[in-house]
Amino acid sequence: MSGIYIHIPFCAKKCSYCDFHFSTSFTGYRDKMIHSIQQELETRLADLKEDSPSTLYFGGGTPSLLTESELQKLCATVGRIKPLNELDEITLEANPEDITELAIAGWKRCGVNRLSIGIQSFNPEDLSWMNRAHTVDQSRNAVKLVQANGFENLTIDLMYGLPNMTISQWKDHIQEVLSWNVPHISSYCLTIEKGTLLEKKVRSGEIIQPQDDDAIAQFEVLIELLEEAGYEHYEISNFAKKGQRSKHNSSYWTGNSYMGIGPSAHSFDGKKRRWNVSNNSLYMKRQDWFEDEVLTKQEHWNEYFLTRLRTAEGVSLTFLTKQFELKDEFFATKKKFIEANWLQETNEYLFLTPSGKLRADYIASEFFRV
Ligand code: SF4
Repeated sequence: MSGIYIHIPFCAKKCSYCDFHFSTSFTGYRDKMIHSIQQELETRLADLKEDSPSTLYFGGGTPSLLTESELQKLCATVGRIKPLNELDEITLEANPEDITELAIAGWKRCGVNRLSIGIQSFNPEDLSWMNRAHTVDQSRNAVKLVQANGFENLTIDLMYGLPNMTISQWKDHIQEVLSWNVPHISSYCLTIEKGTLLEKKVRSGEIIQPQDDDAIAQFEVLIELLEEAGYEHYEISNFAKKGQRSKHNSSYWTGNSYMGIGPSAHSFDGKKRRWNVSNNSLYMKRQDWFEDEVLTKQEHWNEYFLTRLRTAEGVSLTFLTKQFELKDEFFATKKKFIEANWLQETNEYLFLTPSGKLRADYIASEFFRV
């Protein structure tokens, strides 16, 4: 078992672009939810036997909304299976408006040793249409405060491909994050998800959908500036200084097992995947609250391409040969993309070239077995 993910399904506000599972009206049942998550943790950790976890990740939703005593309860439950100081990494996602000296001290007492801070943009207008709960100044102060309090192990989330974003604005955003000298940066292109407020505003014409070409140009600038600054582009959306890759997230991309706890959380044990219901009430009632399925050979193949092709190492040809029967279509697709200079091959690995990185999902989908 490589990692435990705990989903905290609470948020202060609903960001306009977000389609994750969360609720903004949770005050009446937050104790019950924490208790339910604790119960699921207890039961599922008991099933682990010798397969002990190496990372713990609090995601959401907004885990920084948890009080110290709520977080302590969840950490103590994990600690009964494995002492927290023996885990390689304990990450908590934090929104800038929740970051105070008191909160930082509490997170440290609970054993958190890595923070993931959702900055997203330094443009107040972006934060406004995104309906983020923080201001640009709060973002800046939060990072300063975290670093002043000795939290060096940070990752910053930043978004590109935003409406009206210019290349020069985007460069300024990147430079500002670089000035903080953080060990890890994640950067995601805005996607317009079905059912979000953003989708509604784009459909009504209130927000103009950004052009793909602009997002591609911004992605290229991102790679260029971060690589120049010494970050390794080790996954399509993730950049790390030497030795600072996210241990928890790396296990998703390398096909290791992980256990997801809480509403909407996903798990994978190497053969079977499981997903909990994306509904707080059903989750707490334990009513139709999860589904699982054993991956077919074909699904395993597709999943492998989808995740591994996004990594710097790429797809292992030895693994493919051992695990699957390689068909003619695979060799034809590989040849086509190598000739297009979108893929490169060594004896062992097949990986994306710089121009391939701009089309990662498309290239992976061309390898899918249907
Ligand atoms: S804080 Fe995060 S999880 Fe919550 S709505 Fe915003 S983007 Fe989604």
